[in-house]
Amino acid sequence: MAKRKSWEEKNNNIHKSRKVIIDTVFGREDNTQRVHGYEGKVEEKREVGETWVDSDGKHWEQKEGYKVNVSQMDDVRSYLEKLNTCSSENCKNIKYGYADKKLIRKTGMCSNCLAEFETKLRIDGTFPFYEDYKLTRNKLAYVRDLKMRYEDALNGLKVNFEQITEDGRVENWKWDVDIDKVKNDLKRDIDGASEAIDTLLERKSALEEKLIELNHAELIKK
Ligand SMILES: [Zn+2]
Repeated sequence: MAKRKSWEEKNNNIHKSRKVIIDTVFGREDNTQRVHGYEGKVEEKREVGETWVDSDGKHWEQKEGYKVNVSQMDDVRSYLEKLNTCSSENCKNIKYGYADKKLIRKTGMCSNCLAEFETKLRIDGTFPFYEDYKLTRNKLAYVRDLKMRYEDALNGLKVNFEQITEDGRVENWKWDVDIDKVKNDLKRDIDGASEAIDTLLERKSALEEKLIELNHAELIKK
């Protein structure tokens, strides 16, 4: 009996990035978690403009290259408190830990309330659809980003380009590749991404209909 070919063997003729799209859409490898980097970061990197409260209750804002203490500003404080407070009405959590704060920013709820909320969804049978919906939206964001990067790459593709040297001279460089082949590969990848986006959008709206049917329209995100 012939040995069954693995997915890798069968598809090693597929262009690499096309395979990433296929794997993403059909869930052969969960890229979404890795790409969006949910967990595992010890040191939090702050974005410029981001505001947060440290463990001493001090309010900070990240500026370009430095952070400022904004404790004096009451409106900022109340805004922050809202951002960093669990939105659940029955929340009994008094002091949020680091994981809670991260979760609140991402989901609006602390870990206890989120667990409670998800348990309710499990009981009424909504949970698998809710999970699938979250995953589908993550995949959609991922493939859209991928497609944009392919399009940027295609638009910026040139065989000849100029490089300015340290002493200010302009040097002409020629990239030694089969430019038509690279272009065609990229176009195929863009097409693949578009197909994937259509598939994911269909899945997303089917799941939205299901969530409405289950009386959970509040779970639908834009
Ligand atoms: Zn809570």
